[in-house]
Amino acid sequence: MSPLLAQMALRVEHDIFLIRQRGREVAAAVGLDNQDQIRFATALSEVGRQVLALGDGADVTFHAEPTTLWVHLVTRRQISEADLLAGPAAAAHRLVDALRVDVTDVTMVRMSRHLPTTAERLTTERVDQLRLDLARLLPGSPLDELMSQNSQLVEALDKVRAQRDELARLNEELAETNRGVLALYNQLSEELEETNRGVVALYAELDEKTAQLRAASESKSRFLANVSHELRAPVTAIIGLTRLLADSPAAPLVADQTTQVDLIRGSATDLLALVNDLLDLAKAEAGRLEPQWADVELRVVFGQLRGTLRAVTNNPDVELVVDDPVPPLVIHTDEVLLAQVLRNLLVNALKFTAAGQVAMRARSGPDGLVELVVADTGVGIPADQQERIFEEFYQVPGTIAAPRTGTGLGLPYARRLVNLLGGTLRVDSEPGRGSVFTITLPERPVG
Ligand code: ADP
Repeated sequence: MSPLLAQMALRVEHDIFLIRQRGREVAAAVGLDNQDQIRFATALSEVGRQVLALGDGADVTFHAEPTTLWVHLVTRRQISEADLLAGPAAAAHRLVDALRVDVTDVTMVRMSRHLPTTAERLTTERVDQLRLDLARLLPGSPLDELMSQNSQLVEALDKVRAQRDELARLNEELAETNRGVLALYNQLSEELEETNRGVVALYAELDEKTAQLRAASESKSRFLANVSHELRAPVTAIIGLTRLLADSPAAPLVADQTTQVDLIRGSATDLLALVNDLLDLAKAEAGRLEPQWADVELRVVFGQLRGTLRAVTNNPDVELVVDDPVPPLVIHTDEVLLAQVLRNLLVNALKFTAAGQVAMRARSGPDGLVELVVADTGVGIPADQQERIFEEFYQVPGTIAAPRTGTGLGLPYARRLVNLLGGTLRVDSEPGRGSVFTITLPERPVG
């Protein structure tokens, strides 16, 4: 058994005060704090009161382990655990760390409380010293114990009141915070609703503007289509008339007149080209172009372009190279529209290349795509203009070919046609070195 600190007998009512007092003294001596001293002493006196009520009393001993204080109550008669821990004594469980009851002939109750980590360890020497100190303490009267108990009660009540006040203050703070959070939440909800209303209104406006824009674009296309259509007949007539005038054997023109008539025909021919380009573009924009899908052998298209463009090229310093695809490539597309785009790119390349080479080739790429490339060694296009040349009427300043021809409508039209065929048209170019236009088309467009 662990070393003995103190002992006493519990026989009469008066002893209950004494064991409570002793309990507190022992607890204080081993280093339990104020609250724990009261807990330990209260558990001891409540169990003691029950022992006295049910039997002939008990012998009480206090023992020390290095970090634990024990108290043993050995009754003089057998008392069952249920009887012993009834009434106020039932609370003893909660006041100590361990409570064990062993019932034999007699009943043994053991209760313990751990020492705080700051307390000195209960070595054998310290226990011997404490035993001597405790033996020297004079037992007080029940009145002393009552007074001490009263002052403990007052202290406990004070603590409870302080805790209650603190709780009330915390509650008030919490309520205040809640009110603040609620107000903030309401404000945020309102702001969110306001923003939502704004966004909805903005979307409605955007839809309206989109519809207006679409309507404006449609009327522009309609207008272009109508005007160019109406212009074509008179301009063609002017060209015909100039030809008649120039070739009339009945009334030959004098030299001045021939020059003037040639000028008129030249201008009318330019105008007809512009009108034709505008008409093509307007048709493509209005969605009035329906591709005629068929399997197209690229060699055939390349062969035709080679023939027609050789006849057009009159610059001996530029070589036109058209490489037939090997092995032969067949793509599902509109032959006429594709040939139109390629011719457009080739004509541009020849127009903007003073010397070197203009080449066209095709190769089949990954993912069922085919690339058609028109490359030249001409003037090239500055990087910041490379997207702009696909805008209507845009021509790169300072690269005007001589003689000045073109409308600035060829590339926007070409890109629209390629898109219509399910592909893309892009350019890579370096000023002074040349340009590469690449058409990427699906071999078999879906849908
Ligand atoms: P156009 O050739 O009738 O002027 P395009 O739309 O076909 O109109 O081309 C727009 C402009 O893009 C041209 O005026 C020219 O400045 C530039 N461009 C087109 N193709 C080439 C090319 N192969 N090399 C250099 N510049 C080019």
